[in-house]
Amino acid sequence: MPTPLPPPGPGPFELSGGDLCLDFANTWGDRPRAETDGLRSYDHLLAFARQTGLGEASDLAALEQRGRREGAAAAAALHAACELREALYALFSARARDRILPPGALACLNAQLREALPHLTVQGSGPAPEWQWRDGAQFLTSPLWPIARAAADLLTSREAPPVRECDGAQCTWLFLDRSRGRSRRWCSMASCGNRAKARRHYHRGRAEGS
Ligand SMILES: [Zn+2]
Repeated sequence: MPTPLPPPGPGPFELSGGDLCLDFANTWGDRPRAETDGLRSYDHLLAFARQTGLGEASDLAALEQRGRREGAAAAAALHAACELREALYALFSARARDRILPPGALACLNAQLREALPHLTVQGSGPAPEWQWRDGAQFLTSPLWPIARAAADLLTSREAPPVRECDGAQCTWLFLDRSRGRSRRWCSMASCGNRAKARRHYHRGRAEGS
């Protein structure tokens, strides 16, 4: 089963993909337009982690301090984040089109899973223990761990709704299609859906006028 999303906190990212890993891929909304890339610094990665409830608040505060002290390491962590994000985009974009999963993207996801999963533990002595990530404050890449796991869960899920990519001409938004007829085409009617409708209307009007 896909990992359920934690309740979103206030923050700069739009979390409408329906799954943590899709929301992460959507931190770049319109590839390749660089100005729509929401992950341009290590602090942006931490902002995404805070907004989606990834990691303990104290761990994220420690990472913030550490990121400021260790600029080169924070840049490397941001690079790893962008690599994972583009791998997830490639994988789920292919999935949305029923295409073969790109092997390089799958290798990238597996490499990040190998780093993440040794930190996954079961905690709690009551009848309902929980998955918990350990040592998050010690690794600048720890916000990526639950994202990689969510992606693996979603890719291997047989029950999850289908993944779609927005039909908008300048939009690479991924989302789970929970619509009744599994026929959703747009990230949102308010943005791409209405733009496409307006475009069709314009072209029809011109065709009829000529
Ligand atoms: Zn869109």
